[in-house]
This record gives sequence, C-alpha cells and structure tokens, in this order.
Amino acid sequence: MGTHRLYYDDSYLQNFEARVLSCSPGRPVQGPSGTRAAWEVLLDQTAFYPSSGGQPNDLGLLDEAVLLDVREEGDDIMHIVDRELAAGSVKGCVSWPRRFDHMQQHTGQHLLSAMFQERFALPTVSFHLGADLSTIDLRGQEPSWAHLLGAQRAANQAIFEDRPVNVRYGTADQLAQRGVRKQVDREGLLRAIEIESADLQPCGGTHVKSTGQIGLILIRGLSKVRQDWRVEFACGGRAERLATDDLARQRALVASLSCAVEDLPMAIENLTAERDAHFKSLRSALQQLAEARAAQLVGEASAGANGFRLVAHVLDGVHPELLLPLATEIAKHERTVAMLILAESGQLVFAQHRAAGKDMAAILKSVLATHPGKGGGSKDFVRAKLADAAASPHALDLASRLARP
Ligand SMILES: [Zn+2]
Repeated sequence: MGTHRLYYDDSYLQNFEARVLSCSPGRPVQGPSGTRAAWEVLLDQTAFYPSSGGQPNDLGLLDEAVLLDVREEGDDIMHIVDRELAAGSVKGCVSWPRRFDHMQQHTGQHLLSAMFQERFALPTVSFHLGADLSTIDLRGQEPSWAHLLGAQRAANQAIFEDRPVNVRYGTADQLAQRGVRKQVDREGLLRAIEIESADLQPCGGTHVKSTGQIGLILIRGLSKVRQDWRVEFACGGRAERLATDDLARQRALVASLSCAVEDLPMAIENLTAERDAHFKSLRSALQQLAEARAAQLVGEASAGANGFRLVAHVLDGVHPELLLPLATEIAKHERTVAMLILAESGQLVFAQHRAAGKDMAAILKSVLATHPGKGGGSKDFVRAKLADAAASPHALDLASRLARP
C-alpha cells in the first residue's frame, strides 16, 4: 500500500494528523553540531515531501520531534527524526518557507523547460533544485543568449497570465493522448502536472496552484556539462534576493567609480586600459633602471682569471619586479654571473653569461640543500624563493663560493 501522500492532492497542507505505524532507532545523522541519534518513523499518511525528482525533502516537526530528513523507500516515506515517538496519533507541521520556495522553483522549472522545448526544441533531460540556484540540463544545439532570454520572456509572460496549475491522473496511454511527451514506463495510475495551455508532465513533486505564484523567473547562467547545456535559474523569492544583491553590488561599484550606472561598463573599460598602460610604463622604467644598475654593478665587480666576473648582492628596498631584468642585464655581460637575492622576501635569481661556464641549477640545488626553499631552472638561469628570507646573506655566501673558480 505504502504511505498515503497528502501533498499529492494538497501541496498547501501544512498541518496534519497521522498515525505512527512504527518508530525504530536509525543510523546516526551528521548534523551541523556533530553526529546525533536518529529514529526512523513510518506514518499512515504524510504531508512531508521526500527528496525525489530533483526536489529536496521538507523539514518540520512531528509533535516535538524535529525532522532531520525525509526519504522515499519504495512506496513508503521514511521520516528521520531526532527523538523517539510513541505509538498512536501524531501532529505534523511542515516548515512552510522552505516548502513554498521549493514549490516556486519546481513549478518555475516546468514552465521554463516547456518554453525551451516549445520554442527551441530543446528537451530538458534533468533538473536539480539547489541551495542557491536551480539548474536544468538541455539536450541539443547550444542555446544562444537570445534563446535563453526568449525562453525567460515567454515563461514570465505565462506567469503574468496567472495560468492555473492542475494535477491530472491517468494511465500512461491516457496521458500520452493528452500530449505528455515524456516516455513513462510506470504501470497503473500516474500523476501529471498541467500548466494550462503550456505543459503537461508526469511529476510527483509539489507545485504552486497558479503560475502567478512563481513570481518571476530569472536565468542566471549557462555552462556545458558533458553533452548537455546546463541553465541556471532562480524563481520567486530567490529571484527577488538575487536582483537585490545585484543592485547592492551595482551601488557599491557606482559609489567607488563615481559614475552613473549606465556608464559602469565604460568606466571599468577605462580603468583596465589605464592599469595596462601603467603596467607597461612601469615595465619600461624598470628595464631602463635594470640596464643602468647592471652597468654600474658590473663595473664595480673586478674581473678574475679569463675575465670571469661575479656580481653577487643581497638587495634591500628594491622593487621586486626589478630582480629579473637586473639579473638578465648583468648576465648579458661577457663571462659574468649574477647572483641576486631580495632581502625582504628571499626571492633569488642566479643567471650567467653562457661563456662563464658554470651550472646555476647545480649551485641552486646545493644552496637549497642547506637553506630550504622552492625553485628551479636551467644551467644558465634559475629562480627560487628561500623559506626563510633571513637566511639570504648565508645563502648568497654559499652560492658565491660555489660559483668562483
Ligand atoms: Zn513537478
């Protein structure tokens, strides 16, 4: 027989009475404050919706017991509660804000799926009602932005027309005659949801009684998931919250950029262009500085046998972006090795003129064996970062000794 589902015929039922058929200890449930003991309760009838068909379960109370989960087990509905219930009669109370939110999202999904199917021949192959956004997966050609907005427009038009949402029962054949597209392989009497002049779908979920109660549908995004197209959307109260959050973000942007809302894209484009130009001029200034400093440092270093020169310094108070061009410029000088470490961060670059004939990678390996850090590179050029910046003078000392002939 199974549990009698009161929500099938009245999805607005919030308070009901039922008989406890059984109550037994269940597996402990993982809650926000650790694991807690749980009991499994079977009732003769229930208004609680179990997780099913993409719609999450209801929450609420059975007398004093708090509902932790509601599961479908065959034809039965299993209520998971936080305390034992005595045999006899019990009062159930459905947490209404959560349920009504689910009804808005779920009915909105029927409508949106119907519009994608009817207008663009894109069938919905799955539905998920998430904590923030809901999604449908469409199969077929990639929907364009115009498709998405077209489906959204048509769905909202059907909401403004406040069309009745009816529950219909019939056999698979009868429903097929009435226009149900989806193939159903269940036997006996089936339940279907009809949105007048829009859609008829077999469904066991809970829905609002007319499309006006969906409030509004907003599409929020599109992504590819395996072979399908995942459309994110929000309905009713969620759509209102999203639009309000969008406005708050927009106000913050307008305040920080001191421009009108309609000028935001241009203001951000200008900012990005300005940033890129500054970055380019900084690069060029650093390059000029690197060339000048390299000439000065190489000049100060005395050449040894065969013209070998070592320029080794722990640099204090220099721009971190100078390290790389400076080492590169030094190593452009004949038979010269550059060994530079930034005192503040322990970032280092070892670079050599090819004719210097050393192995920077091997030297770095020895340095890192004594002074831990991360990095690597080639025979002529390595970069690394010491774990302890205070070790920079010791690391440089060791590297210099290894580099000298
Ligand atoms: Zn449904």
